Amino acid sequence: MIGEKILILGGGISGLAARYFLCRGRPDREVVLVEKENRLGGMIATSCEEGFFFEGGPRTFRGRGNRELLALIDRLDLRGDLLYAKKGSRRRMVWSGGRMHTLPRTVPGLFFSPLGRMLFSALLKERKVPPYLGDETIRSFALRRFGREVADTFFDPLTLGIYGGDPDKRSILSCFPELKEYEKTYGSLLRGFLKAKRGGNSSGVSSLFTLRGGMESLIRRLADRGRGEICCNEEVQKIEVAKGHVVVFTQRKTRVADRLVCALPFRETARLLPLKTPETEAFFRGFSATKFGTDLSVIRLGFNEGGLLPAGFGYLIPSAEKEPLLGAIFDSSIFPEQDGGRRQSRLTVMTRPDPAREVGAIIRTIRKHLRIGADPDYVREATYREAIPPYTPGHARRLRAFSGVVNDRCPHISFIGNYLSGVSVNACITLACITPD
Ligand SMILES: Cc1cc2nc3c(=O)[nH]c(=O)nc-3n(C[C@H](O)[C@H](O)[C@H](O)COP(=O)(O)OP(=O)(O)OC[C@H]3O[C@@H](n4cnc5c(N)ncnc54)[C@H](O)[C@@H]3O)c2cc1C
Repeated sequence: MIGEKILILGGGISGLAARYFLCRGRPDREVVLVEKENRLGGMIATSCEEGFFFEGGPRTFRGRGNRELLALIDRLDLRGDLLYAKKGSRRRMVWSGGRMHTLPRTVPGLFFSPLGRMLFSALLKERKVPPYLGDETIRSFALRRFGREVADTFFDPLTLGIYGGDPDKRSILSCFPELKEYEKTYGSLLRGFLKAKRGGNSSGVSSLFTLRGGMESLIRRLADRGRGEICCNEEVQKIEVAKGHVVVFTQRKTRVADRLVCALPFRETARLLPLKTPETEAFFRGFSATKFGTDLSVIRLGFNEGGLLPAGFGYLIPSAEKEPLLGAIFDSSIFPEQDGGRRQSRLTVMTRPDPAREVGAIIRTIRKHLRIGADPDYVREATYREAIPPYTPGHARRLRAFSGVVNDRCPHISFIGNYLSGVSVNACITLACITPD
């Protein structure tokens, strides 16, 4: 007997994980997933062209403390496919003042470089800064606790690197909740870091990992092991809520369900939302207040020559440097196993989309920064529109009000995705797994 009919919108990691969790042990449910593209995965896209392996979107999971992700990997029998980042990829760099600096990771490291000494003196002063418990921008948090130099040199590129956006508009509470927690619990980030280090991962195994066949192998396995029809090339155009059920109109048909799980990107969710209240409008308006927008371009560069890249994860560039790129990730230093058995150097460069800038200028800049003599053998560019939702100050409060009104007025709709409680793949999986049963 078929019980509940559930419709899932969106075939990215959020939608596919929700499909898997909702069907598990529930043969009574009829689940249908609708996706507008002719492929699944959304931002997750692994490619191997001309012998060069690349991730288009996300490339790493962060495993530490993520029970849901690791449990899912086990259930999907993917544990044997885990590929841990090389130990050397803990090294991070910053391009500043015309040269590359390695960020210190140890106490002695704080004394042996100009950046280390700057950080050390800021950390000493930071212990005495009184905590502020409210939300604020990342920049104001950094200025208040560390001063301008650290805000410009560390927090600015960190925010650009992870969120592709400006620190003077992003929320510290929603983007770096652990830093806010250290401030609240220990009164200082230094004390928080030291506590975390003591209780942390000392095994030497990196907490960053991927899957041997790339991130898309998770998508394929979820699609295979989950149950229920998957309808690609079907774009949702309208959602209506009626008493006890939901009606979804696509370009192909009208679908009726008892429950809806909306796993669409934030802009699309805002457009199609069947519930317009001051709380829902304020929630989505919160994403509009950013200077740069949220589009991101990635340029993948491959060289048929090994050893061109330093050991390390990659490097970031503070905006004060006025370079045409945000930073680069050294793919072949992190996961050399994906070099395809050949001597290769692979890296991914992040930039802002700009029709006026040429890929050639980016390549010249990268070659200058990394002192690479050769021309790349492989170049591909991709642009992600509204890739990373900008969490602005007050996001957590607006989210509570949004969730309250949705639970109250539309209890048969669940919203999941990267615009609610974290942008990472892990956060998307966690949210999909706690979707009300
Ligand atoms: C360049 C880049 C690098 C990243 N790196 C990392 C990383 O290393 N680690 C990490 O953890 N995270 C990373 N992220 C973030 C992470 O990839 C995303 O937050 C996550 O994949 C979002 O998944 P999702 O399923 O919520 O959304 P999406 O992947 O956007 O999926 C939404 C789906 O909905 C579909 N859709 C849209 N509109 C409609 C419609 N009207 N009808 C039907 N279907 C529709 C889309 O086609 C898409 O398939 C990165 C993101 C980018 C852009």
